[in-house]
Amino acid sequence: MLLFSLIMLFLGGIAVAASNANGKLFLLASISSMLGTATTGLAVWGIIPYTNLTFRAGEVGMVIDITLLALALARKFRTIESEKQHAQYMAKIDPLTGLNNRRAFYELMPAIWQSTTNKRNLTLALIDLDYFKQINDTYGHVCGDQVLNKVGSILMQNLREEDIAVRWGGEEFLIVYHHATLSQAEILASELAKQIASYPFAKGEQRFTITASIGLAEGCSECHTLGQLIDKADNKLYQAKHEGRNQIRC
Ligand code: GH3
Ligand code: MG
Ligand code: MG
Repeated sequence: MLLFSLIMLFLGGIAVAASNANGKLFLLASISSMLGTATTGLAVWGIIPYTNLTFRAGEVGMVIDITLLALALARKFRTIESEKQHAQYMAKIDPLTGLNNRRAFYELMPAIWQSTTNKRNLTLALIDLDYFKQINDTYGHVCGDQVLNKVGSILMQNLREEDIAVRWGGEEFLIVYHHATLSQAEILASELAKQIASYPFAKGEQRFTITASIGLAEGCSECHTLGQLIDKADNKLYQAKHEGRNQIRC
C-alpha cells in the first residue's frame, strides 16, 4: 500500500514538473493517501498512539485521494469539451478573413432557408474582386492576402445583424441578406461596392484601389432550391463581369 502511494507520489511529482494542469491535484491526492496510509501503519506498529482516528487515517486519506482525482477528471473533461468546441468553431472560420467558410454556410442555411417564405425575403449577393490576379502579380501574394483580409473587414463592418458573410472561395465572397428584398439588398450591396472601391490600399509607396462585381438574386423557399438561388446569383455575377466589371447585376 505504502509502495503504491509512493509510486503515485512520484507520478504526481512528474506531472507537476511537466506543468500538467491537473498535476497539483494529482500530487495532493497522492500525498493525502500516503499520509493516511503512513499514519495507520505507524499507529498499528505502536509508534504513534493507536486511536480510532489514527487507525482510520488510511481510509480518510483514500477518500480525499478519490475526491481530488474526481475533481481532476472533471477538469480534464471540461478542458476537452472546450477544446472540442474551439476546434468546431475554427473548422467553420476562414483563417485569412475571419469570415464564415462554406461549411459554416451550409450548416447555417437550412434554418434560414426554412424560414424564408414570400413574406420574409432573402437575397444572396455573390461578390468577386475584379482583376485580382493582377494584384497578386503586381504587388505579391502576401499583399493579395492583405487585400482579401481588408475586404473581409469591410464586409463585416457593413453587415446588418441578421446578415451572414462567407468567404466563398479565393477572391469570391457571398452575403446572405436576410429579410431583404432585392431592392433593399441592392442598396446595401452598392454601399459595400463603394467602400471596397474607395479603400486606399498601399504597398510601400505604391497606392492602388480594387473594385468588385456583384450578382444579386432574391429567393424564397417555395420558388426554388438554395442551389438554384446560388446559381441565379452566379449568373448575375457573370453578367456583371461580362458587361465590364465594377457593377451590380440583379
Ligand atoms: P476577374 O475580374 O475575371 O474576376 O479576374 P480575376 O483576376 O480576379 O480572376 P481570376 O480567376 O483570373 O484570378 C483569381 C486570382 O485570385 C487568382 C488566385 O491566385 C487569386 N487568389 C485566390 N485565392 C487567393 C488567396 O487566398 N490569396 C491570394 N493572395 N490570392 C488568391
Ligand atoms: Mg473569381
Ligand atoms: Mg475576380
